[in-house]
Amino acid sequence: AKSIVAIVGRPNVGKSTLFNRIVGGRVAIVEGVPGVTRDRLYQDAEWNNRWFTLVDTGGLDYQDEGEIVSHIRKQAELAIEEADLVLFVVDARAGLNGTDEDVARVLRRSEKPVILVANKVEHFDKVHELYDFYRLGLGEPLPVSAAEGLNTGDLLDRLVQEL
Ligand code: GDP
Ligand code: MG
Repeated sequence: AKSIVAIVGRPNVGKSTLFNRIVGGRVAIVEGVPGVTRDRLYQDAEWNNRWFTLVDTGGLDYQDEGEIVSHIRKQAELAIEEADLVLFVVDARAGLNGTDEDVARVLRRSEKPVILVANKVEHFDKVHELYDFYRLGLGEPLPVSAAEGLNTGDLLDRLVQEL
């Protein structure tokens, strides 16, 4: 069976943009409105002849206890459970956030392999801003710009290595 790779992170960090970039289309809806993806969205993708199933999620938000938010959160938690590998996306522009730390705790507890993806890095002279993310305890953050497609090839190289 194909490996399952789940994209998780708090709302608005660019998970759906990254999903679309990797699957090569506009499958997931990208919007400035957090939580636009409510259920898990699956799409097969390929890199260097390795196929895997990519899963987009609506995002984890432990700060809000609303009914919709808790449904979205449950979907993300299910995605982590079924995943062989997790892409944990954080927003390098916004910097480290309390919700990132909550998500990191869930991921460390899951003991799944995680690639920490620092998105929205369009300028690589700003990589010093990534140092904070080491505190998540999930290794080295990999800078990408999902919107511009910068460094996403490196991310995919690492992804297929870990499958
Ligand atoms: P999601 O809620 O995590 O799925 O985030 P989306 O993919 O919907 O993106 C949220 C917002 O971030 C949108 O306005 C995107 O255009 C923007 N965005 C996503 N990726 C990037 C990126 O690499 N660079 C920048 N500057 N903005 C991005
Ligand atoms: Mg989304």
